[in-house]
This record gives sequence, C-alpha cells and structure tokens, in this order.
Amino acid sequence: MNSPVDKIKERLSIEEVVSSYIKLDRAGANLKARCPFHNEKTPSFFISPDRGSYYCFGCGASGDIFTFVEEFEGLDFKGALKLLADRAGIPLEPYSKEAKENKSEKEKLYEAMEEATLYFENNLKESKEVSEYLKLRGLNDKSIKDFKVGFAILDWRLLYSHLKTKGFSDTEIERAGLAKKPDDASKAMYDRFRGRIMFPIADSSGRIVAFSGRIFKNDGKSAKYLNSPETPIFSKNAVLYGIDKAKESIRKNNFSILVEGQMDLILSHQAGYRNTVATSGTALSDSTVSKENVVSNLGLIRRLSENLVLAFDADKAGANATIRAGKIALSLGMDVKVVEMPEGVDPADLIGKSGADAWKESIKNSKHIIEFLLNKALRNSNGDMRKTGREIKGVVLPFVDALSSSIEKMHFIRLISDKSGVQQDALQDDLKKIEQELKYEKEEIKEAGEASAKVYRRDYIERKLLGIALWQQSLIKPTVDFEIIFNKLGEVFKKYEDIRQDLIFEAEVFYSNNENLEKSIREMFLNLEEENINEEISKKMLELRKANDESGKKILQEINELNKRKEDIKNSRLKK
Ligand SMILES: [Zn+2]
Repeated sequence: MNSPVDKIKERLSIEEVVSSYIKLDRAGANLKARCPFHNEKTPSFFISPDRGSYYCFGCGASGDIFTFVEEFEGLDFKGALKLLADRAGIPLEPYSKEAKENKSEKEKLYEAMEEATLYFENNLKESKEVSEYLKLRGLNDKSIKDFKVGFAILDWRLLYSHLKTKGFSDTEIERAGLAKKPDDASKAMYDRFRGRIMFPIADSSGRIVAFSGRIFKNDGKSAKYLNSPETPIFSKNAVLYGIDKAKESIRKNNFSILVEGQMDLILSHQAGYRNTVATSGTALSDSTVSKENVVSNLGLIRRLSENLVLAFDADKAGANATIRAGKIALSLGMDVKVVEMPEGVDPADLIGKSGADAWKESIKNSKHIIEFLLNKALRNSNGDMRKTGREIKGVVLPFVDALSSSIEKMHFIRLISDKSGVQQDALQDDLKKIEQELKYEKEEIKEAGEASAKVYRRDYIERKLLGIALWQQSLIKPTVDFEIIFNKLGEVFKKYEDIRQDLIFEAEVFYSNNENLEKSIREMFLNLEEENINEEISKKMLELRKANDESGKKILQEINELNKRKEDIKNSRLKK
C-alpha cells in the first residue's frame, strides 16, 4: 500500500523542497543552512538527504518535508499535504472511506468558503455596474479572475439560501462567518456581507479562509470595509492577503512589498510586482493587536526574505498601524524601507492613474524607514530647531533604537546629524535615554519572536501524539497502547476537540505503514520533554535577571539540573 505521503516523498526530495525556501550549503554528505525557525548568524540547521529529514542543533526543530512546509508556511497538515501534492503532481483522494464520510468541521467550512467564492464571482459576472467600476479603478479581467474578486448583492439572505440548497447547515454557515443569527431566534439567519465587492483571503496553500468586503455604494451608515470574523479556519494573525500568490516572488526577488488595501495589492501584482502582500483584513491592519500577533503575522514573509518595503497612503490612520509593524520588523532584524507616496494618494490610485512605470519608480526610490521618518520630521518642523529636536527624539530615534546592529545605529546617527544639523553627541544622549525607556518593549518583541517559534513546536508534537492515540483508538486492532499516550498527554485533549477528525486523518496518512510506530512515539515524547525543559529554563533565566545573590544561587542550581536532564535525554538517544 502506497500512501499519498509516500508517493510525494518519492517524487520530492527534502533537498529540493527546502532549497526552494532557503539557501543551502554542502556539508559533507549533508546540507546546512541558517535556521529559518530561530534567529542565528552561523548555520546550525542540517539536512540529511539520505534520511529525508532535517534537524536544527540551535532550536531542536526537526522533521521531514511535511513538517518543514507546515512550520515554514504556517499551515496545518492538510494544507501542507495539498501544497506538496500539487507540487509533485499527485492527485489527492480522501484517504479512507471513513474519512470521506466523517468530514471534519474545518473541511466543511473550507467547502462553504469555496462555494461562497464561486457564488460571489458569478454575481460579479452578472453585474455590469460593479464590473465597470472595477475596470475604472484599473483592474483587468485577468486580475479579477486570478484574485477571484466577486460581488455580494445588496439583499438579506441570497448567499444563505444558496448555501442551504448546496447542503450546508445553519451552524456551518454561521461558523464560517458567512451569515449571522438575529437576536430574535424565531427569525431567519441573514448574510454578513451585503452590497459589497468581495475579496477572498487565502492561506498560503491557496485555501480560501476569509473575505474582506468593500462597500459598493456608500450609504453613509455601513463601514467601508467589513472582514470575516475569526473562525475555526481563520485567524487574523496567521494570514496576509495575497500571500499564496506572492510567496514565490518574495523569495525570488528577496524582498516583499506590504500595502494596505486589496486594490493596492491587486494593482501592484498587475503592474508586475507579484511580491506584494496586503494587511487588509488581517491583524496587521489593526493598531490594537498585540505585538505577538504582529510578529506572527510577519512570520512567513520574514522567513522568505528579510527585506520589507512598506507602501501606504501617508495620511490614513492605517498608516500608523503599518509604521508600527515596520518598527517591529526592524526590531526583528528585518531591513525596512518605505515608499514615499504623494499626499492623499495610495498605490492603487498611483498605478491606476499614472501606470506601472510610476509604481516601479516609487519602489526604486523607497527610503529606509528611518530616513523616511526623518524627512517627514524635518518637513513638519519647518526649520524651527527646537521643534526639529523634539520631533527627532519623539519619532525618529525610537526607530534607531530598534536596530539591532550598533554599526547601523552609528550610521543613522550620523545621517540624522548631517541632515538636521543636530550635534551627534546630543543625538547619542537622547538615544541612551530612549534605550532605557524602551528596554522593556524591545525585550518583549524579542521574546515574542522566540516564543512564537517555540510554542508552535511543542503544540505540534502534542498534536501529533494525540492524533496517533485517537487514530489507534478508532482501529479494531490497535498496534500501540493508546491509553498510555492519553494518560501522558493529560489535559491536552480538550484543546483539540474541534479538530479531532483532522488529527485522526493526519495520523492515518502519516503512520499507517510505519513499522516503527512505537519508536516514533518514544522519540516524540523525548522531544516533548526537551521542549518543556527548554521552556522551564527560559522562565528561570527571566527570574534570574530579577533575583538577588541568595535566590540567584538557587535558581542557577535549578538551571544546572534542568540542563543535566537535557543531556540525559540526548545521551539516551545515542544509546539506541
Ligand atoms: Zn533552529
């Protein structure tokens, strides 16, 4: 029996898959690279073509092409399976009869989104007025088709009724975020999106997970944009609009362009910049979301390229959120540039009115975010030296502080001094004060960057183990003692109640021909223990910072013991 996983692994080597994301160097029989899952300067990420696996000595990330794609692209197993199957040219059929009948909730929600997208697309084809409007804004037919732009007619329950005729239940339609229940329960459900141009948002494997709807005729009451709520398949911090179409080009060109709106994004792609993603409808467009969310939202584009170009209408409130994202990107070690747009003009206007060349020119002329902010501060203060000093301290220096390299810091202090006439010494003094004030914020971002990778790995192992136990439990003749796994995992069970069927599917696809299942399980528990110890150590390190001599000694001893336990685990692996 040949599972799709085996077939895919036969066709795609780990070298081929991983090198399509990051640069690999030879290291004897193996390959090495800078780890995409943690920040490092010297490579500790190794790939073994023989075994078809990778391992990072820095952070412990390990696995095969599937786990790599999952982790790199921020996808679940099915998403990675779809992506790799497409790439290998292997058609996917539902794995077993049982899996076909027991489609998971998520599976049904994806189908509902797919059906809604088709429905909106058909509406658009029939609505001349909307099509004409889109053309007037500069969108061509190909872009409308590629991005599956659609239209939600201004009516109460057209989509709802359509989905009902297609066999979706009220709960599914509601859980997909497509319709709402009225307060008065005796009344029928109604569509969330009405009278809006619809832009589907896809995850990085191309599955539609949400919509962003732009009002077509402004009635003065409704919001200009309406986005899908968070649903079991859509989390605002995990997706960027356009990422599925942009990722190849981001990697190839080694930079990404971040715009605000859907129109900006589509027109930028149309103008030949396929490496463009948009914040619209995601966590990045919201100035109130936590830094962790911004970090995780930037995650994929950062793994693809460390160079980021921001392009937005400088007058809009959204610009503040984008600037904030820029600062966080800077703190994460990314190189951030800003396109200087004429006032009151957004990329869509520029491309629509002045054409692709004007857009190309603007991107070429983009400035480092610090220089951009400096120019703005100088314009605002209009030659008034006291005002200049205040603006630089308040707006520009915090961004200099966010830089991680001191050489770069020096470079910008010099630049600011040259352009503004403020003495370098004075700037250095102010920078020192800011360093103190923003110390906490910077640590927070750094930790968020590290935590987002770490937490994910532990969750990942837990999910795999739980999947194996659930799958084995469903078999007439289980081959391993699933009760032991359940017991060891404890409370974890509750967290994944919603995706039970998915976990069973994943385990079945992955392990049904595995002769060494027992061994794999043992290895996963060891990994899990290591993760827990690492987490424990990080916590103790934080405590250590605040500790006095007496308590510090005790904490150090505890850290030593934890490190010893880690060594023991490593050694126990070598023995086998
Ligand atoms: Zn690593």
